[in-house]
Amino acid sequence: MDYDPVRHAVSDRQLGHFPSGRDVSVTVHRYAGGDGPTVFVQAAQHGIELNGPAALRRLHDRLVDAEIAGTVVAVPVTNPIAFDHRSYLTPEAYDAFHSNFNRIWPGDSNGSFQERLVANLWPLVEESDAAVDLHTGMPEMLEHVRFSRADDDARALAEAFGTEVLLADDDAVGDDAVGDDAVDDEFSGKFRLAAAQAGVPAITAELSNSRTVTRSAVQSGVDGVLNVLRRLDVLDGPRASTPDQQLLRDDTPRVVAEESGLFELRSDLGVGDEVSAGEELGAVFDPASFERLETVTASAAGVLYSASRGGVVVTGERIVSIATVP
Ligand SMILES: [Zn+2]
Repeated sequence: MDYDPVRHAVSDRQLGHFPSGRDVSVTVHRYAGGDGPTVFVQAAQHGIELNGPAALRRLHDRLVDAEIAGTVVAVPVTNPIAFDHRSYLTPEAYDAFHSNFNRIWPGDSNGSFQERLVANLWPLVEESDAAVDLHTGMPEMLEHVRFSRADDDARALAEAFGTEVLLADDDAVGDDAVGDDAVDDEFSGKFRLAAAQAGVPAITAELSNSRTVTRSAVQSGVDGVLNVLRRLDVLDGPRASTPDQQLLRDDTPRVVAEESGLFELRSDLGVGDEVSAGEELGAVFDPASFERLETVTASAAGVLYSASRGGVVVTGERIVSIATVP
């Protein structure tokens, strides 16, 4: 490895135009050192997920004076439209077909408004050797890194990132993905999968707490990306110590609301708890008539890794996530 002082460059990458003619663009930071791999890191595909950009600001301070082998390409605000609207999804006014930025990778230059934006960002991903996608979840979520179970390179990156929980997805990559039913619709268009299909091992880090900047989550993001860079020998030196890691498998049916109403989680239940199949998790009530509309039960035995404490739910909406212990 050839560790040279970083040359930092920042640029705007134009992805498209608003109806008014203004540019839709993202800011791209490029930290280039000696010979070595290129690592792509992005944050805020979803506009309320703020710990990723906050982590990349701190990472900038660490990288800008570093000696590295290779190149780090960082996009702190991947979806500026949703970010400016302080919205998880992109407002329908811009793209009635695709509101979720993370369901349309690798984009389509002849597709919808957002698909075209993504298509203009995609070359940065495709020319990389590894990719990290920074997200955040609900306050009630075990911080985790998600990777495809069949992808050993991605698993190594996930382990290096260093969260306590590793979540293995059953999604298929590479040759396994060829065929009608190989990739579940639920997963199609996700950044991590599109990258894997292009031969770029990728992980999704789910840091805690959307909507706020939470220092512990930001620190996890900084440590995680630095650990990945050390794992890939982009940075020299030992990786920060990581906790004992628990591997979970995301292979259970989703727990969705069958009824629309006001959901309340069982009061003695929290993330990290183990539940058995069919166990009561909470209930959906009619907020006006007070009627109990539905008892929500566990779809399988496993660990509760993400849950809404309570809130408005609509029919078909996921309310609780369970992973199994392999
Ligand atoms: Zn997200």
